[in-house]
Amino acid sequence: MTSWGKIAEEVEKRAGRRCEYCRMHQSLQGATFHVEHVVPRSLGGTSEIHNLAWACPSCNLHKSDRVEVQLPGVSQAVLLFNRL
Ligand SMILES: [Zn+2]
Repeated sequence: MTSWGKIAEEVEKRAGRRCEYCRMHQSLQGATFHVEHVVPRSLGGTSEIHNLAWACPSCNLHKSDRVEVQLPGVSQAVLLFNRL
């Protein structure tokens, strides 16, 4: 079994130590970044690595439990996270 610390390390490494939402590098912010659930557990998301993102505190708090946003002038909701 993989510990949460190892999972967090892997997520951080995969993200290149950048927030996966705003792309800010962790070295530019004093606060520790978070391992964030792309699809929140409250919506059925898992803690498997493919559902985790490295996020600065600001992005993580603004995203909260949302997975998509409605943009003005766009008929369809847009996903907040799109891993290419
Ligand atoms: Zn961010």
